[in-house]
Amino acid sequence: MRRILMPILMAAGLAVMAGAGTAAARDPAGVQPQPAAWGRLAAPSQGPAQAIGGYAAGCLAGGVPLAGEGTGYQIIRMSRNRYYGHPSLIAYLEDFGRKVAAAGLGTALIADMTQPRGGPMRYGHASHQSGLDADIWLRLDLPALGRKERESLHEVRYVDYARMSVTPAWSERQARMVRIAASDRRVDRIFVNPAIKKDLCARPWPDRAWLGKVRPWHGHDGHMHIRLVCPPGSSQCVPQKALPEGDGCDEDLAWWLERAVPAREIPPEKAVPPNPKLPPSCTAVFGAKGISVAQAKPAGNYDNN
Ligand SMILES: [Zn+2]
Repeated sequence: MRRILMPILMAAGLAVMAGAGTAAARDPAGVQPQPAAWGRLAAPSQGPAQAIGGYAAGCLAGGVPLAGEGTGYQIIRMSRNRYYGHPSLIAYLEDFGRKVAAAGLGTALIADMTQPRGGPMRYGHASHQSGLDADIWLRLDLPALGRKERESLHEVRYVDYARMSVTPAWSERQARMVRIAASDRRVDRIFVNPAIKKDLCARPWPDRAWLGKVRPWHGHDGHMHIRLVCPPGSSQCVPQKALPEGDGCDEDLAWWLERAVPAREIPPEKAVPPNPKLPPSCTAVFGAKGISVAQAKPAGNYDNN
């Protein structure tokens, strides 16, 4: 038994050393890398893009960085190194930015996407693991800023929890931005606070099909969470359960309006699960050879603004 096992373990160890470098040490007690180790990987793995596993138990092969700033958007808190995604997410966000700009809504602020190779995160999110999730802040009042300035912005929260309604700062501009985000066939669903969903339901839109994709959830009072469908070619991507028919402006929303709490009140053990079981191929993604760090850096440079 030992004679068979040892060479396998040594080979696996060498693959990790050669591929991911010393910073990405594996958890010695476990069979899969820990969230902190995923967070230390500096560059995506080489090879074709694959969203692997579920949104809250998966990883990303062949990830791509979103350019730090583009038409209609800029990424915030780039020091977190969470601006990677499957190419379908990158294309989606670039298109989204162009539509926001064309509608004259201002500049969208893109927050956390996925780590270079996805996987669980040490803090902040239970999902965002497979390169198909992105948070977009709802505030639209900021001009183009340098990357350093974008490190310390504050999230404007648009929900009055005592009344479970939007605050006076909420406007049609935010509502139109959510509609732009949801009116795209690449989107599976978008999470917003129930008070925001209630406002969207009350508006006289010419079309309402997109509203069904906007789902109520705890928190999400200063940002919306975009989730894309499994992209073509990602055979190991695990889709979400299909959404119910209709615009969702129904008893489901009423249920949420009675229960939603601010993100800070969600018990931490419920907010981020310890370390979900990932598909076995994620261990290979973790240990695979990476693209060069120069290639992995997002385009553009606003540091000197
Ligand atoms: Zn999110």
